[in-house]
Amino acid sequence: MRKIIIAGNWKMFKTQAESLDFLKELLPKIADDHEEREVVLCTPFTDLGLMSKSLHGTRIRLGAQNIHWEDEGAFTGEISGSMLTEMGVRYVIVGHSERRQYFGETNATVNQRLKAAQRHNLIPILCVGESKAQRDAGETEAIIFEQLAKGLVDIDQNALVIAYEPIWAIGTGETCDAIEANRVIGLIREKLTNKNVTIQYGGSVKPANVDEIMAQPEIDGALVGGASLEAESFARLVKHV
Ligand code: PEP
Repeated sequence: MRKIIIAGNWKMFKTQAESLDFLKELLPKIADDHEEREVVLCTPFTDLGLMSKSLHGTRIRLGAQNIHWEDEGAFTGEISGSMLTEMGVRYVIVGHSERRQYFGETNATVNQRLKAAQRHNLIPILCVGESKAQRDAGETEAIIFEQLAKGLVDIDQNALVIAYEPIWAIGTGETCDAIEANRVIGLIREKLTNKNVTIQYGGSVKPANVDEIMAQPEIDGALVGGASLEAESFARLVKHV
């Protein structure tokens, strides 16, 4: 059974006080709705401790936005698997395009981070996707297949989520056409040994387009940046039709 997962990626937004305000507003809005759907909030590292306590007993699972491949060591600015699990983290985003673009992540380091996540019983959300230039050059499939082939070496596909996030649709308001997102996600699924991996779409998902996106047969959820920052819009995504 493929699980539906709606995950918010807060990126570098929300202080602890702001995260609490958000939660107070969100929880009553999603309390009894579609309890079979997994709801995840991937917060900044500084919010994890407080959020872990505040999410206790709720339906929301805690996620982080990165993990280092070593268990400890001299890696200034990084965070380890045991630091995350101690905070009650269950999911971790790996290979987000912003990490690849601004912080030099490669398919090789993404693979190492995925392995570290699984070693610590965290479920990684592997992000893959092409840039506008790559799409225009007809390279979409080749880029994604390479990200999968190199990223998934020695990765257990029974404890994995994938997010197809075309880079040109992230934070731009320009959503990938739902049919096209469904097509690419279908191609991703064909490459997997476990056909039941949850594969999300990400890229300007918002209340106005979530129903059409989630109606696609290959799409099992959404990874959401901007629209996860407001309780009203995030609740609407969780409650998609
Ligand atoms: C993301 O950051 O993963 C994302 C999809 O952002 P947005 O929803 O803002 O496009």
